[in-house]
Amino acid sequence: MLTGRELSRFRKQLLGWFREFQRDLPWRRTRDPYRIWLSEIMLQQTRVAAVIPYYERILEKFPDVSALAEAPQEDVLRLWSGLGYYSRARNLQAAAKEIVSKHHGKFPQELQDALALPGIGRYTAGAILSIARGAKLAVLDGNVARVLARLGAVRGDLRESRRWGSLQKTADGLLDPKSPGEWNQAVMELGATVCTPRAPQCFLCPVAKFCRARKLGIAERLPEKRKKRETQDVTIAAAIFLDSHGHTILLPPPRTKRAHAQGKELAPLVSNLWHFPAMEVRKDPSRELQRHLATLFPKLSSRSLVLEPLPKARHAVTYRNVTLLPFRVSVAQLPDHAGAKIVLIADVCTPASHAVSSLTRKFARAALLRKQSLATSA
Ligand code: SF4
Repeated sequence: MLTGRELSRFRKQLLGWFREFQRDLPWRRTRDPYRIWLSEIMLQQTRVAAVIPYYERILEKFPDVSALAEAPQEDVLRLWSGLGYYSRARNLQAAAKEIVSKHHGKFPQELQDALALPGIGRYTAGAILSIARGAKLAVLDGNVARVLARLGAVRGDLRESRRWGSLQKTADGLLDPKSPGEWNQAVMELGATVCTPRAPQCFLCPVAKFCRARKLGIAERLPEKRKKRETQDVTIAAAIFLDSHGHTILLPPPRTKRAHAQGKELAPLVSNLWHFPAMEVRKDPSRELQRHLATLFPKLSSRSLVLEPLPKARHAVTYRNVTLLPFRVSVAQLPDHAGAKIVLIADVCTPASHAVSSLTRKFARAALLRKQSLATSA
């Protein structure tokens, strides 16, 4: 841990670099806690370039916390559609409602109050309160931990609780109390642009002379790899009903408990959003799907349904490798189902038009491509 003049020099170097070279990002042009909070939630597990258009679209529609709190959840999910990790959007809106009802529409000032909001952990609360309100709270996430581990040549699994606790203490000790928000952003920026997971660019690093991993020649080997959770192979078959006008049927978000009871863990895979009639299949996809359709649509004569297999696709979600088996089902009239909605298949492929996951969008694209190739060959 650096102290005294060395610590002052370290802070000066890093802040000087950040002030000169930081990227111009939309959420850096504001001190509004709502906008900073929104960006922090969106940036979890998601790249900056992917976040920017979503951030701008959501702010245009919901310019403040009250607008977000009052919006139908469907609208929020629709605008979030394609960004993934949909619990973030649900928590964001639940927190907005609490901010309106318990905090008069203002983001809380105190750490404990911020931590009590849905979807806000220590990192996010620290980032918002330091950047928007100047609170002296050092942040620690995977990005910051990597930088600190390299600076101090820390070995082992960084997420192991004692090691994580010690990294938090290091982060607390390094924090510049005069500019905590800027300091946190500077460390994050260093991790995002210079001290990157692969091939850190030490020759560009403003704090290279303080870095133990660089001195020892082990920067690229840190942090050491964690044990990975074993990947699971899952196969999902979906029926994409299509009528002659290009309409299809989407089912409402599955109820997790019921889906689990049926042994079909569909809910997490479709992110609890609108989806095609689908199920996890094991041995005989078309027959299993046919039986599932007979249960879903009892009035439909499942024997008369022709399930036309479309090219399969792949989808990766955290530790799952998902094989997607789309089946096109051409019908004169779309079947009835409580709570279902009839939509244009082309719209399901368009970001922000429906609250669907990227998995559902891949299914839709398969059906649309087939429809277009049939139209071309006709
Ligand atoms: Fe990271 Fe290299 Fe800078 Fe060390 S010198 S902090 S490893 S970029």
